[in-house]
Amino acid sequence: MSSLLGRKGTKVTNILLPEYDYIVVGAGSAGAVVAARLSEDAGSSILLLEAGGDDYGDKMVAVPLMYGALQRTHRDWMLSVEPQKHALKAFKGNRNYYPRGKMLGGSSNLNAMIYVRGCRLDFDRWAELGCEGWSYEDVLPYFLKSEAFVDINNGDSIVEKDYHNTRGPQEVTRFSPSSLSRVFRSAGEELGYKTVDYNGREMIGVSPSFTNVTKNGLRASTSRAFLRPAMDRPNLHISIHSHVEKVLIEGSRAVGVLVKKDGREVTVRCRKEVIICAGAIMSPQILLLSGVGPRQHLDEAKIPVLKDLPVGENLQDHLFVPVTSPVTSTDLLARSTLLNPLNILKYLWSGGGWLRVSPITELAFFRLGSATPPGMPDIQFHVVPSAQEKGVRDRTEKMFDYKDEIFTDYLESGAKIFGSRQGVSISVTLLHPKSTGTVRLNVVDPKGPPLVDPNFLARQEDVDIFVKGIREAQRFLDTKAMKAIGAESRNIERAYKPILWQHAYDSDGYYGEYVRHFAHNVYHPTSTCKMGAIDDPTTVVDSQLRVKGFSNLRVADASVIPEVISGNTNAACVMIGEKAADLIRGIDSVRQFRKPLFSKL
Ligand SMILES: Cc1cc2nc3c(=O)[nH]c(=O)nc-3n(C[C@H](O)[C@H](O)[C@H](O)COP(=O)(O)OP(=O)(O)OC[C@H]3O[C@@H](n4cnc5c(N)ncnc54)[C@H](O)[C@@H]3O)c2cc1C
Repeated sequence: MSSLLGRKGTKVTNILLPEYDYIVVGAGSAGAVVAARLSEDAGSSILLLEAGGDDYGDKMVAVPLMYGALQRTHRDWMLSVEPQKHALKAFKGNRNYYPRGKMLGGSSNLNAMIYVRGCRLDFDRWAELGCEGWSYEDVLPYFLKSEAFVDINNGDSIVEKDYHNTRGPQEVTRFSPSSLSRVFRSAGEELGYKTVDYNGREMIGVSPSFTNVTKNGLRASTSRAFLRPAMDRPNLHISIHSHVEKVLIEGSRAVGVLVKKDGREVTVRCRKEVIICAGAIMSPQILLLSGVGPRQHLDEAKIPVLKDLPVGENLQDHLFVPVTSPVTSTDLLARSTLLNPLNILKYLWSGGGWLRVSPITELAFFRLGSATPPGMPDIQFHVVPSAQEKGVRDRTEKMFDYKDEIFTDYLESGAKIFGSRQGVSISVTLLHPKSTGTVRLNVVDPKGPPLVDPNFLARQEDVDIFVKGIREAQRFLDTKAMKAIGAESRNIERAYKPILWQHAYDSDGYYGEYVRHFAHNVYHPTSTCKMGAIDDPTTVVDSQLRVKGFSNLRVADASVIPEVISGNTNAACVMIGEKAADLIRGIDSVRQFRKPLFSKL
């Protein structure tokens, strides 16, 4: 088999065998884990099919701070959401660009590397919704199994050691080169918030970000952490530029896939299972093209219906809205810092300095409303130690597609307020939206990009919580600690004169309009192949991740998440990949991580 493998970079196969035991579709955050773990059984043969290319040797991907430069390149599916009725009013066509990773490692190679597992109550809620075996106590061992926590801050007191593993495959580190970390922590304390290990016992509070960055300063994607160590195994074939069009189903049994590779359509069969791990947008597309989905929609797309299931329904995603402020601190993420040769040398020499960080250096979690149970946050802050600087503005414009007239206004008024000062940006993030949307085929071109309609902010409750989040961000900016570095809490007026001035400044209506214009998606889509009880009509897969009504067919990725979690979604997808592999192999690989501590939570 090894003679079929290419020699450069990742060992990818150029020729597909007619049959494998398992076919894994998509090498992203979950798929790379599933394939790598299944290949631990030397007696099983596994084919991993990835539509994108290899990430090996791609320095833009490997250097964390290059994060923003990856979108709208060949590494990205380059999707957009459908025009929104209730949101995105500041963006061209009321749409948002919607990046998704398209390469080995998938979105774990395109993301901002923030490592958040979610709140324990999120997973207990999953269990309540009928996901047997997915309570916090059940899933924590799988989070631990994948983690290699490297305490480069040398015994920092906030890290709760019992909640971390140092020996898994995927590195997690915490590091901030800016003094903002200390200031932000003090600001939190002034307001009565603890500094917490948000991946530990309690989530609500303030913390420097944990990130999937290696101790040497490289992005710790799932391809680096899971696939590369496994790729010499002769029983694992990794095939890139291989776009799966549909699952082949005979009767109610999945028997293989139809894949387009190098311009040719090829059929590959499986002896055991097909596992779809193409993410919350593409997994539903593959199922729909295979004839599994809402009957009416499949009829419109002229696809014979094998099973009427709510595939593509229940799309959930996080949104955030920026609250920015000038500050006088100098050690922030400024363009001059980045281009400083000393910083570049520092990174090349030791993997240290600014180039090794995610642009989001601080996080905070709050419960400001009453819709979530005590202990479960409803608002998150993503804090970026940078705002309004010329280079940053240019990048923002490129990334976010603001309407021309709004962006000019935003730039001009921003320039007036900030002058030559640096800034910080607190991205206020709505964690538990009530509004849900859909992923549908484009009936004119079903194999083309799917239609993603998140239906953002359709429910007023979502806006109301956001407004509370904005006011909380202003309280942070008003603390003594933040004021000491020149923070100003009322900058939101600067950009939005024509649209927002029909509401009294500083009123809830004013900030509500601000949210409906400027809230932007955080790229955490989930729940389009919802997991849950088999008799629940809203679910697509059961607790073993099996597509209802079929044998030998599972989904394992963000799409199975029944309700979006209280934080960034990557770690949960890795956990889902770990647990899926155990379910498929019929083993319990995490016994060693089940400690008595967890039953006392
Ligand atoms: C820009 C951005 C920033 C983010 N920042 C963070 C962050 O800082 N922290 C965090 O926790 N989360 C973050 N996320 C979210 C997180 O990365 C995702 O939730 C997670 O990666 C999803 O994992 P997945 O396995 O479901 O899908 P993906 O990782 O997207 O994997 C799907 C894979 O399937 C492949 N594929 C799709 N269709 C096909 C097909 N038809 N045939 C073959 N292959 C196919 C894709 O190319 C891809 O490789 C971010 C996401 C983005 C896009």
